[in-house]
Amino acid sequence: MNRPTVGVLALQGDFEAHAKALADVGAEARTVRTREQLEGIDALVIPGGESTTMTLGVESEGLAEPLRDFVASGRPVLGTCAGLILLDRDHLGLLDVTARRNAFGRQLQSFEADVDLTGLGTLRGVFIRAPWIESVGDGVEVLAELDGHPIAVRQSNILAVAFHPELTDDRRVHRWVVTTNGGPPQ
Ligand code: GLN
Repeated sequence: MNRPTVGVLALQGDFEAHAKALADVGAEARTVRTREQLEGIDALVIPGGESTTMTLGVESEGLAEPLRDFVASGRPVLGTCAGLILLDRDHLGLLDVTARRNAFGRQLQSFEADVDLTGLGTLRGVFIRAPWIESVGDGVEVLAELDGHPIAVRQSNILAVAFHPELTDDRRVHRWVVTTNGGPPQ
């Protein structure tokens, strides 16, 4: 198989760690800052960072429509932490969920917890000022919960997680990007 090329939205946030994780699963990572850079990639990662800053970047680069088209094309899209927020109903509206920012409380700026993710098994989640999901629409499958709140979901070719899979050595989430064609994690 050819080496897949995976774009990482690099308006702000952690490009390097995702690029390394993608290299570990046999993909080549490419920064995406413009609509042209969305062309010719096999999948897309929307990383963590600061969702307000990323939203401004999406607006100033005119990326909302190209991102919609990309999701509609069926190619896999992984959103992590702020990336999950960016995809929700109140932002790009591509994922039929409402995310609550910084939901785990200010005293819990960052923490780790075991996450039992349907199809992938138990993995260690690194949560940094993480959101949780307040409500999910019919077409959304909840893959993992923490403290009774969804923190990993899939809606067709979008997988969104509230934690940072790029910050551990476990590559199961990134492997989803390159091996499943946007289907259920396995
Ligand atoms: N708290 C950030 C936000 O609301 C997300 C944090 C992260 O991506 N690590 O945008």
